Amino acid sequence: MRPTTSPRDAAIRIDVPARSGRAVRLEQGQELAIIDVDGGQVCDVFAFVADDVDEYLSASHTRTSTGRLFPGVGESFTTTLRRPILTLVYDTSPGAHDMLIAACDDARYRTLGVDEHASCATNLRVALREFGVVNEVVPQPVNVFMNVPVAPDGTLGLLPALSAPGDAIGLRADIDCLVVVSACPMDINGINGSHPSGLALTITTPAEEF
Ligand SMILES: [Zn+2]
Repeated sequence: MRPTTSPRDAAIRIDVPARSGRAVRLEQGQELAIIDVDGGQVCDVFAFVADDVDEYLSASHTRTSTGRLFPGVGESFTTTLRRPILTLVYDTSPGAHDMLIAACDDARYRTLGVDEHASCATNLRVALREFGVVNEVVPQPVNVFMNVPVAPDGTLGLLPALSAPGDAIGLRADIDCLVVVSACPMDINGINGSHPSGLALTITTPAEEF
């Protein structure tokens, strides 16, 4: 269930146009909502420790700590140093999110026969640069809303996202961090349905306890 927001909560809304990315800084305790505005849109999520971007959200370390392939509500994503960085606090979508498929990049599109194409890897670099961070590492993202079923023989599917318009997840910052989201521009293999679309973000600061 999406939590209700108290009137004292400060909410900031950021629109992420189709095919683009945004970076936001979260303080510990702040909550980031990622909203699939039109439905069926994959959102690559990366997170870096604010004061040391060499430590970042690691899908493989997260799988070790949760014992699962994919994220679940109440579970934390962990860093390369095995510290919780974000916790999935709610999910109003059908719950399909991926932590196995690499971010799309120039090389991926070249293998698909396209020489120049927007990509989540480029969106990551551009968004971080706005925070003065020059980073060539492209971590394994958390591919929110990405529908990657695993068959009993280990085969992976790359199926259209199941999220409906307005579906959202909430991520609470466990430590101060930079979070980058990319509205995946993939328009060749169908993971974003008929066409890539935009996302919306809200950042909520919990009201002080009195
Ligand atoms: Zn992508």
